[in-house]
Amino acid sequence: MRKALALLLCFVIVFTGVGGKSSSRHTTDGSKKVYVTETGTKYHKKSCKHAKNADAIRLDDAVDFGYEPCKTCKPPILDTADDDKTVTYVLNKSTKKFHYPWCSYAKKISAKNYEETSKSASQLKKAGYSACGHCKP
Ligand SMILES: [Zn+2]
Ligand SMILES: [Zn+2]
Repeated sequence: MRKALALLLCFVIVFTGVGGKSSSRHTTDGSKKVYVTETGTKYHKKSCKHAKNADAIRLDDAVDFGYEPCKTCKPPILDTADDDKTVTYVLNKSTKKFHYPWCSYAKKISAKNYEETSKSASQLKKAGYSACGHCKP
């Protein structure tokens, strides 16, 4: 009986320990390595031709510094990564264009025309939207 109690106590300790760490999931994504150059405005995968002499930094740092994902090598994107697919594109309800959430034009959309969606590009095209020529979603 005493042994069972000790076992139960063990479980409680293990579960509270795990519970305390559950908020670290997002940081794992941001800790992915991407590559930036001193003069560039984009971040890259290591294999990208634009990433010669680039320095490895954390993805969340690259985003913090204002780097945008390279269009050639398509490096990982923070927030829209595997475990968070709720927002795929940003819509401009006035011009009927859709953008990647990181697009500089998407950030200029006025609040009344701005909408976030989880629909795919082909669904949006059927709904009468066209892809932005800048971010090319
Ligand atoms: Zn690149
Ligand atoms: Zn765009």
